[in-house]
Amino acid sequence: MKLSETQQMLLRRLPGVDRMLELAKSDVFFQDIPVSVVTKSARLVIESLRTAILENSSEVIEQGLSDASVVERIRESVTAAMSLNLFRTINATGVVVHTNLGRSLLADEAIANLQVIAGRYSNLEFDINAGKRGSRYRAVEDILCEITGAQAAMAVNNNAAAVLLCLDTLAKGKEVVLSRGELVEIGGSFRIPDVMARTGAILKEVGTTNRTHLKDYAGAIGDSTGLLLKVHTSNYRVTGFTASVSLSDLVTLGKTKGIAVMEDLGSGTLVDFSRYGMQKEPTVQESVASGADVITFSGDKLLGGPQAGIILGTRTILDSIKQNPLTRALRIDKLTLAALESTLCLYRDPEKARQAIPTLRMLTLPISEIQLRADRLCALLSDIGDLRLGLTQHALSSRAGGGSLPLLDIPTVCVGMRVTGISTHAVESFLRHHIPPVIGRIETDVFLMDVRTLQDDELQWIQTAVAELLKRN
Ligand SMILES: *Cc1c(COP(=O)(O)O)cnc(C)c1O
Repeated sequence: MKLSETQQMLLRRLPGVDRMLELAKSDVFFQDIPVSVVTKSARLVIESLRTAILENSSEVIEQGLSDASVVERIRESVTAAMSLNLFRTINATGVVVHTNLGRSLLADEAIANLQVIAGRYSNLEFDINAGKRGSRYRAVEDILCEITGAQAAMAVNNNAAAVLLCLDTLAKGKEVVLSRGELVEIGGSFRIPDVMARTGAILKEVGTTNRTHLKDYAGAIGDSTGLLLKVHTSNYRVTGFTASVSLSDLVTLGKTKGIAVMEDLGSGTLVDFSRYGMQKEPTVQESVASGADVITFSGDKLLGGPQAGIILGTRTILDSIKQNPLTRALRIDKLTLAALESTLCLYRDPEKARQAIPTLRMLTLPISEIQLRADRLCALLSDIGDLRLGLTQHALSSRAGGGSLPLLDIPTVCVGMRVTGISTHAVESFLRHHIPPVIGRIETDVFLMDVRTLQDDELQWIQTAVAELLKRN
């Protein structure tokens, strides 16, 4: 490839890394930045300029290669390199347990406890009374048993780990009987049949996609049966001509045949949502009361705590799970344990839990409060005083998310935004790239923000972001 005169001239002018580092030394901006970061950024910037010249990019030719402009590029690169990859975002999607946005927000009580335990030594695995080694699983066992009625309990890394551990402990090399209507894929590549294969348990499917009867389970039980499993169809519902077997009927069958019964509840709620005019969702307490031998659910879905997997069950089963070497690999860490214990304690008073745990508070927020918040957001945005801004309000539905309450439409109010002269896609993209990002959605060419999942202090942040959008365009 033959280079043009201009290209050759630009390549000659391209500064070297050493020269740029020399310039950076006398620039206060770079004073507290590690040399390794500045060097790497300088290399990247110069390399990308070289590529741009070779590709005849008009941008380089127009902006030139002055020291000032190259240093400015290095500054931008350093800023990006020094910023954290995990940062807060504003959830205007209305999906309360949004797995991509971090699922549940912790209650203040949980955050406070997390802070103490994170920065200090603790009795994590130390028995204060005996003065010797203790078990980390003690921290949440009593409170879990107290609020659910279970005989024994423990917490592990997440519910996927809980399911894996239970199957590995109870059904390795044995058959697990499961309805064809409950062969669930949770997303993020968690499929019940695959998890089962990993543990060496053998899946014994019974019934059909839409109908499974008790006689199907009974007929499948043989010498090699290790477990009867029920899986909550978290993220879908089979509707129409359907039949499924209740957990208590399965427990009765299990008891007659001497086979353990397990339920993977998925989300697992401790609160009866029908008390707040929502669809009835089976509670953890009801599953425990029906006599299942072991029950698992997530810590950060409807429970509203940190990422964790809760296992409830008989003392014998929990003891054998603790003996399983896999448990060590899937154990819960102390930060999670601290946040989980505080969250669980809030459930001693269900009304207090509903108000203090953000997931529950957002899900049960009265529509009157949502309307007030939407009005406040509209007022803040109008205050910017830009006539290009078109604001609307829309009565739509929020979602519980996290594979819970899949069919439930929770009435909400969304603030809609259009800006004359700026495409809705450009509006969405600008707000998504803002710091902190505002994540909403586009419907019929309107940018929609569901105010249910906004925190009070975030309305002002959205105002700032929109003001900046208008100023830059
Ligand atoms: C969400 C879910 C899981 C996985 O739980 P994590 O806490 O995300 O690991 C397993 N089973 C069911 C039925 C679920 O809904």
